[in-house]
Amino acid sequence: MSVVGIDVGFQNCYIAVARSGGIETIANEYSDRYQYFFGNGQIVHGFKKFHGRAFDDPYVQGEKPKLPYSLHKLASGNTGIKVRYLDEDKVFTIEQVTAMLLTKLKETSESSLKKPVVDCVISVPSFFTDAERRSVMDSTQIAGLNCLRLINDTTAVALAYGIYKQDLPTPDEKPRNVVFVDLGHSSFQVSISAFNKGKLKVLATAFDPYLGGRNFDEVLVEHFCEEFKARYKLNVKENPRAILRLSQECEKLKKLMSANCSDLPINIECFMNDIDVTGKMNRVQFEELCAPFLMRVEAPLKAVIEQSKLSRDEIYAVEVVGGATRIPSIKERISKFFGKDVSTTLNADEAVARGCALQCA
Ligand code: ATP
Ligand code: MG
Repeated sequence: MSVVGIDVGFQNCYIAVARSGGIETIANEYSDRYQYFFGNGQIVHGFKKFHGRAFDDPYVQGEKPKLPYSLHKLASGNTGIKVRYLDEDKVFTIEQVTAMLLTKLKETSESSLKKPVVDCVISVPSFFTDAERRSVMDSTQIAGLNCLRLINDTTAVALAYGIYKQDLPTPDEKPRNVVFVDLGHSSFQVSISAFNKGKLKVLATAFDPYLGGRNFDEVLVEHFCEEFKARYKLNVKENPRAILRLSQECEKLKKLMSANCSDLPINIECFMNDIDVTGKMNRVQFEELCAPFLMRVEAPLKAVIEQSKLSRDEIYAVEVVGGATRIPSIKERISKFFGKDVSTTLNADEAVARGCALQCA
């Protein structure tokens, strides 16, 4: 029986498995996808951080207006998700919804590996509390998985780095200190690990649990809502479907701006009231609009280096992973802070899942 490693990201999920020839990732329909689960055409996404949180938690309340589905207060006080299921409104616990997603991932792994998959290692953000971790563990049980361990995203990335490095210092030499920076869709995690051959020690971890690629999408959405209101007299915010479409287009625009400095168009046909809308933006404008978020990159970097008690010249490399580290200004800020170019040795999308697979290899 194979043990699989699973990275359940806020936006993207990856599965990896250790084989005799090395680590392989398993293609699945939830990587590079915005949503986790369809029930009668209903899209449910963005619920990862509801694990272990009360319905009245300010974070949960703050997310409510952004979701294309409704939340429900469970008798336990926890957060439930209301979906149309078999022609009925039904409330699911977060554990059940994540379990549905994990079940799909389990099935995908089984059909790819052509054998049963039960044992797994799953990653969670390093800032997840005990209650949040327990809630994820419950989901694995509901999905019929045997989760051998939950590991921190940051640990998984460090494992993925260490395994392929043939030139690490021997155990009696000075260790190699590497900074790992992961900016995903919903959160920012930083860590420093010390490597010797066959040995890995996590020296420090820091995070901003509420900084991620989604903040940059939201800034763009806000900007174009204002612009379309002024130019086309459209009240986009009152139309959840329009907001969803605009968010998707803004995310595409954000990615294009990582590769291009020039003015880039955003065009949406029949956006609202049969009106076609257009707009444009370039990287300089984007960085100005996002300045308050860009400024938040530095604090966790500072925290992690202070915690590690290392000086900047004791850092061997700064490795970046996570989709949002592709934003040029983010990379520049990280590189400026540590005084060295950032490295992209690891697969930015798959590193966490690969590390999970290694943990159980
Ligand atoms: P989390 O780690 O917060 O749970 P995740 O693991 O699902 O989330 P990732 O898959 O690492 O997140 O990254 C997704 C984010 O990266 C999205 O916001 C996406 O828009 C962004 N992203 C991906 N490619 C690019 C790019 N080329 N330029 C800018 N942003 C990008
Ligand atoms: Mg991630």
